[in-house]
Amino acid sequence: MRLRNVKGSRETIAQNEYVIHDETTRKGTWKEIFGNDNPIHIEIGMGKGRFIMDMARLHPEINYVGIEKYSSVLVRAIEKQTEEALPNVKFIRMEAEGIEEVFAPGEVGYIYLNFSDPWPKDRHAKRRLTSRQFLARYGNILAADGGVTFKTDNRDLFDFSVEEIEAAGWKKDIVTYDLHHSAYAEGNVMTEYEERFSSMGNPICMVKTHP
Ligand code: SAH
Repeated sequence: MRLRNVKGSRETIAQNEYVIHDETTRKGTWKEIFGNDNPIHIEIGMGKGRFIMDMARLHPEINYVGIEKYSSVLVRAIEKQTEEALPNVKFIRMEAEGIEEVFAPGEVGYIYLNFSDPWPKDRHAKRRLTSRQFLARYGNILAADGGVTFKTDNRDLFDFSVEEIEAAGWKKDIVTYDLHHSAYAEGNVMTEYEERFSSMGNPICMVKTHP
């Protein structure tokens, strides 16, 4: 995501009713935050929020939490949500590494990772959101029937991710190297990056996995 300093984005975020600020004190209380017992699904590295807003509109019976580390990007999602005021969408501005401080064991029903940063250098492998280190964190917050879906057009990152899933002993439910021309294309909700990269002709890879 382009790192442009959007003027006033920190202030916008600080005041916004859809952003959960004291996230580390909210562990175990997400049902109360939404005021219902619906499952909580999260997208880590949400970007400008198109995917999560589309999902939330399609699935009002699910609560969505979008996680994004950069204010300048998050502020775009906030703009969309301030207009629409979907009751089942909240945001957190945070670095995903601390995810276990924010959600209790079993509190998260499902995790989406879309077009995550590749961190191409070997020594940065553990920063990739599909590394075994991150999978272990996800395993500690996912519900018993929970799982993770990861989409990317980056074949190197995808191959790495499949290896990490195997090394972690997770089960692969679906693996496709060309989602848009596969049996799973129907009902696929596109992300901002997905639209951009697939329109350039890049095949989209997807894996669905669970611990
Ligand atoms: N999911 C969106 C954006 C993809 S770009 C889409 O598919 O269109 C990846 C996004 O993840 C960027 O906005 C980046 O800031 C965010 N991100 C990357 N690593 C992160 C981390 N460790 N914690 C939180 N957000 C992260």
